[in-house]
Amino acid sequence: MATHRIISGQAEDAGEDRLNLSLRPQRLDDYVGQPKLIEKLAITLKAVKQRGEPMEHVLLHGPPGLGKTTLAHIIAHEMGTQVTVTAGPALTKPADLVGILTKLQKSDVLFVDEIHRLHISLEEYLYSAMEDFKIDVQIDQGMHARTITLPLQPFTLIGATTRAGLISGPMRSRFGIAHNLDYYSEADLLRILQRSAGLLKMDGADDGSLEAIGSRSRGTPRVANRLLRRVRDYAQVKAGGRLAPGVVDEALKLEGVDALGLDELDRRYLTAIGKVYRGGPVGLEAVAATMGEDAGTLEDMVEPYLLQIGFLARTRRGRQLTADGADHIGVELETEISDETGLFAE
Ligand code: ADP
Repeated sequence: MATHRIISGQAEDAGEDRLNLSLRPQRLDDYVGQPKLIEKLAITLKAVKQRGEPMEHVLLHGPPGLGKTTLAHIIAHEMGTQVTVTAGPALTKPADLVGILTKLQKSDVLFVDEIHRLHISLEEYLYSAMEDFKIDVQIDQGMHARTITLPLQPFTLIGATTRAGLISGPMRSRFGIAHNLDYYSEADLLRILQRSAGLLKMDGADDGSLEAIGSRSRGTPRVANRLLRRVRDYAQVKAGGRLAPGVVDEALKLEGVDALGLDELDRRYLTAIGKVYRGGPVGLEAVAATMGEDAGTLEDMVEPYLLQIGFLARTRRGRQLTADGADHIGVELETEISDETGLFAE
């Protein structure tokens, strides 16, 4: 069985990760949704196993919580090998990467989250590791400096990124499979929630209640599982363990999650653009400064879903609230958006 060896990084996710482990599907058959990707992976896995080769390198992009780490675990599990989990920002010097690469066994999976944040000087090491399964390490300095080549076991790199646009061309071209993960449909979220409710032994979880959770999960399995746990706690303490759509409503209201699944941060973001910048267009940095939040967090965690549901438009002149977005937070826009593409902007 594939073991979860967290090498470093993902500190803020570690607590949630522990809880998620029990709900993480272990096999490709248990992975819900993303049919095109799953079909591609299933075919490649079967082919490489028949040939006794390691799995192709895979690049996954998409917002957080859509199942990228889960897929790395599943691929290792299907290959009968181990997975090592790390993240781009956690690897600061060549020795960090060399240490991890040289410990990998044949067909092991190395999962690098936020691969777009890998330091440029480390990318070079990764290239020869991925292509030729060897790395050149420089030892000693000055006159005695020399380079030795370390052979590696053929391994599989699974890179995950929330920003496909920030992956360099040479890096992207070294992945055999690259795929963009989509937000999940409500039907898929219901299947994920049914499975999770079963694993959490929530016997009374009817489909109506689970649908109510799914519809507020922003198309994201991690959010669905988190809300399910909050609702379970609430039902246990406040409703004698009984789950019903009304109980779900009360529990999620307490969590600050509204009817569309938007939370406090989403609403603060929309309100900042709506009220302070009169609906925009406004630069992301300015909105972030107004809110006292990190621009990267807003770009990765908040904006993708608001763009997806059409509450936000990204124009050349900045972020702009749409009529629906303004409506949701009760702000009246002075002008209608006539130029969402920004093509005609001065
Ligand atoms: P990411 O790496 O993209 O941020 P994760 O792989 O950590 O996302 O997924 C978050 C959680 O959501 C997982 O622990 C798992 O329980 C659940 N999950 C994600 N994708 C799926 C899926 N396709 N089917 C079932 N559960 C899923």
